[in-house]
This record gives sequence, structure tokens and C-alpha cells, in this order.
Amino acid sequence: MGSQVFGNTIGLKPSELKKLEKLYRRKIPPNSIITHELAKEISQISAEINRQVGILINRKGEIDYVIVGTFNRIEIPELKGYRDHIARLKGLRLIHTHLVNPKNKTSGLDQDDLLDLALLRLDLISALEVNPDGEPGKIYIAHILPDPEFFKETFLDQEEKFFYFLKPCYVWEIKENFLELIKNLEDELDRIRPLKEIDENKDRALLIFVKEPKDIYLEEKMEELEELARTAGVNVVGKVVQKRVSPDPKYVIGKGKLVEVMILAMRNRANLLIFDRELTPSQVRALTELTDLRVIDRTQLILDIFAQRASSREGKIQVEIAQLRYALPRLRAKDDAFSRLTGGIGGRGPGETKLEIDRRRIKDKIAKLESELNKISQERELRRKRRKKLNFKVVSLIGYTNAGKTTLLNTLAKTEYLAEDKLFATLDPVTKLIKTKKEKLFLLTDTVGFIRDLPEDLKKAFKATLEELYSADILLHIIDISHPDFENHIKAVEQILEEMNLLHIPKILVFNKIDLLENKENFSPLWFKNLISKYNAIPISAKEGTNLDSLIEAIENWLTILEREKPEDSSVFSEVENLPIVPQEHKFF
Ligand code: GDP
Ligand code: MG
Repeated sequence: MGSQVFGNTIGLKPSELKKLEKLYRRKIPPNSIITHELAKEISQISAEINRQVGILINRKGEIDYVIVGTFNRIEIPELKGYRDHIARLKGLRLIHTHLVNPKNKTSGLDQDDLLDLALLRLDLISALEVNPDGEPGKIYIAHILPDPEFFKETFLDQEEKFFYFLKPCYVWEIKENFLELIKNLEDELDRIRPLKEIDENKDRALLIFVKEPKDIYLEEKMEELEELARTAGVNVVGKVVQKRVSPDPKYVIGKGKLVEVMILAMRNRANLLIFDRELTPSQVRALTELTDLRVIDRTQLILDIFAQRASSREGKIQVEIAQLRYALPRLRAKDDAFSRLTGGIGGRGPGETKLEIDRRRIKDKIAKLESELNKISQERELRRKRRKKLNFKVVSLIGYTNAGKTTLLNTLAKTEYLAEDKLFATLDPVTKLIKTKKEKLFLLTDTVGFIRDLPEDLKKAFKATLEELYSADILLHIIDISHPDFENHIKAVEQILEEMNLLHIPKILVFNKIDLLENKENFSPLWFKNLISKYNAIPISAKEGTNLDSLIEAIENWLTILEREKPEDSSVFSEVENLPIVPQEHKFF
């Protein structure tokens, strides 16, 4: 071990520095949290220099760091080369002095101490009182509480516990065997883990919400963010809400909440924090630096979903442009936070994993992508004409995110309705060729889900992912009827269709997830019957395959209508955009 003394060493006499350096030669029995001799020694130096003194002790009982603070604060230097797994303790404990102030006798561990304990996942943290004469007073020791259930019987209040505080005592009174204590803690961490090990390859996220007084729709926002995260393939392992008058400018949430976030992250092995609000570039940076976790906001999550779902080349490019635009102000020369931003969720560029960390190159790239877009729009026209020639009608699945579009596509593909066609071996995975009972063939395509309150920057990218809809002959609007807010979802979808000038395309409303209805409180069959006729919808369960025949029949009916309206000859096939508006007055069942 070295002999460098860290921290606030300016102004110390050489003799004082020497005493601090000498601490590196001490070694304590691994079973002791600290020995009386060592406690005495650091107390005396601390009183002499009138500054806090801290030592970081490893599990062998060796002193890895000696740190000097100010009178009332100590800052731990960056710790490199230690165990760095979110669900593991660091293997280091901090013992530091608290100089007892005669005027204001504050002792014990303060919030900054607990923040250090949680952020660095220290084995434990302790504050040793130092009396003005240099004699050690009581020692205060705390460690992280791995399992909140563990002390349920001891603490009867409902408040969740994040730390365990040993009873303050004099050093010679400490009874705990350190190695045993640590072993118990780590066993406890291991014990709660297997339950939570659901999917190893997925990101594990904590969702973070700030509730300002004006936010009245918190519940809905929470649900939506969770749905978005799920859609992005993220495992949501916890949610944290902080009520604040306004967000903290630096960290969005307060320090006390950050402590909770870190411990929840540790308990649940989270590697990602998703904030429900938009974060400024400097907030992302500050949070990333502080927590060492990946930090993204709602916009970035949505961008990520688009990146995963964009299937056309144009869609992919639009999303990539939006991602680059988003990243640009979040860049700083040689900034590590950005490289973190670019891995996994929140950084999935279609076709690109690691983006160049250079502003100019990003600007060049955006320009290049934009010129590529121009070329593509011509190709798209060609592609559409080619598809028209094949003469398969295109039925597009649309709907709010999580409505069950993909499930429906996949369920149908498992039924006798799937038409295997060698021609379509190269069909992209979101499109299936379906054959009705009357042997009518049509293409069924999936799309990205719709989202309420889409950030303005993303609208263009989002619409690009829907650009396929312009070549749709029929829209299948899937609605999660079990969702309490389904009517607003319908409105949100309708509004986007209107903005995209797609209202003229025939549309079938589909109430999905009917299997969930019966278990609902206050469910009334009459209400549902009226709802179905009000919306002229087809009730199904995509998951259980209920009533899919009616759905296919409804599509079949529309196909017949469209065929009657338009000549078979594809060469005179009129553009979809020029179709007259087809009134939705057909009852299908
Ligand atoms: P998409 O975003 O519209 O593509 O929605 P998904 O197809 O990915 O489905 C979202 C979630 O709803 C998944 O967890 C599905 O298992 C579930 N889901 C879809 N259809 C049904 C259904 O008919 N009944 C039930 N209970 N769940 C469904
Ligand atoms: Mg889907």
C-alpha cells in the first residue's frame, strides 16, 4: 500500500503529515471493526490538526486510504480497483472522526455519511467522536440493510428501512465480529437475490418520478412509464416517487431520496435509472457521475423504443437523426457519461452501437442521413408500387403502446390463418401473410405503438416509423379494453391519424384483452355490449385467441368491399391517398 494522504492536506505541518502517513503501517485483526489503539491514534491526530481524519480499511484489516477532511466534512477520493458490482459491498469500511463542537454537540452519522455509505456501497461507515482533549468518545456505526423485511419485527412502523444503526458505544465495548457481520450482510444480499433474477440479459431499471403539486395524474404517468419501459424490453425492478415543490436543479431529486435510490438499486441489482421527466444534459451528467448507473429520461426511452421498432430504412434513419439530435447538446469533450448513454437501452442506434464522441462528426452524420432520406423517399415510392403489383392488400395494426398488436400478429401466425408462402420468406418479421377461410390473402403488418404526450422533437421520428401506414388498405386499431384510460388512448391514436392524414383509410376497431374484463370490479356485461355497439368494435383476446374468426371475417368483408370499389388491374390501381372516405357504418356481427 502507498503512503499518500488524501484530501485536505494543505497547511499541515510535515510532522502532522508524517503521523498520518504512519497510519498506513497499522494493521488490525480482521475480526475487529476497529481497535481501541487505532481509534485513539486517529482521534489524537484529528484533534491536533482540528480536521476530520478518515481511514478506509479493507477486509484483511489493512488501511488502504488515509483521508483528511475539514472540521466538519470529509470527502472520499475516487476508489479504483475495488469490487464494483451493484449488488456487492465494496470490501472497504470507513472510520472517520467527528470533532465534538463544544457549542453544538452534534455527533453520530449525518446525511452526507449515509450518502457515502449508499453511493459507495461501503461495508459499513462509522463516526468516532473526538473530544477536545483528543480522547475518543462514542463510536456510531451503520451498515446498509440488505433486506427490508429483515427487521420487520423490530421496527413496527411501516417506513422502509435502508440502514441499520448499531447502538452507539465506546470502541472497547464493540461486541460485533466484523467478518461475521459482513458475511451475514452478504448472505442476506444473496438470499433476496434469486427471487428477483428474472431475466439476466435485460436492463434492470428503477423508475423515478418527481411529484410537483401541479401533477395530478401521477398514477397514470407511473403506469405509462412502466409500460414504455416494458415495451423497450426493460425489467422494471422498482419505482421511487419524490414529492417536491420543484425538482432539484442538480440531481432532480434530493440527497435523501438518492440514498434510497442507491439502496433500492443495490437490493434489486438495477443498472439503469429512468426519470419520468426530461433531464437537462448537466443533470444526466451529475446523476451518472454520482450514482455510477446509467441515467436516461422519458424521451430517451421513447427514442429507444422507436429505434427497436423502426422497420423501414426511412424510419430507422429518422430515428437515428432524432437520437443524434438528442445526444448533441449532451456531449462534452471526452465525456464518459455519453459513452454510457450510448450502450444498451437509451442508446440503441439502429445499425450502430457505439457512436463517435465528437460533435462535428455527429453533425456531419446528421447531414449525411438527411441526404440519404431524400433518396429513400424516391425508393419508397417504387417499393410501394411494387407491393401494389403483388396485389395483396395490406392490413396495418395500429394502437396505443401495449394494446396487444404484436401479440395478435403472433397469435394469428400460429393459427391456420397463416399462409406460408415461399415468396415471402424474405418478408420482414413484422409482416405476415394471412389467408382467410374464403382463401383471400392479405398482409398483416405490425407497427410501433402510439404514445400520449409525445415530446415534440420525437414526433417526426415517430411518424416516420409509421410511414408504412400510407400504403395500408385497412387499419386495425387495437385497444386494450382492460385499461382504465382506454377512451383517451383511442383519442390519442385518432389524433395522430388525423395529423398524418390517414383518416380516410378504412378502420376496424378491436377491443383486445377481453379475458381480463370479467375479473374486473364493477364489470357490467351490458355496459360492455353498449360500448361495443357505440364503437362498432370487435371484442377479442389476442392472448387466448378468442373471437379471432370474427376479426378475420370483418377484414374479409372490407377486402370484398375494397375489391368491388377498385379495379383488379394493378396498373390502374389508384393511389390509396385518393380513396374516397369510406363510412364506417358496416356492422360485422
Ligand atoms: P403492443 O405494444 O401493442 O405490441 O402490445 P403487446 O402485443 O406487446 O402486448 C402487451 C402486453 O399485453 C403483453 O404483456 C401481452 O402479453 C399482453 N396482452 C396482449 N394481448 C392480450 C390479451 O388478449 N389478454 C391479456 N390478458 N393480455 C394480453
Ligand atoms: Mg408491439
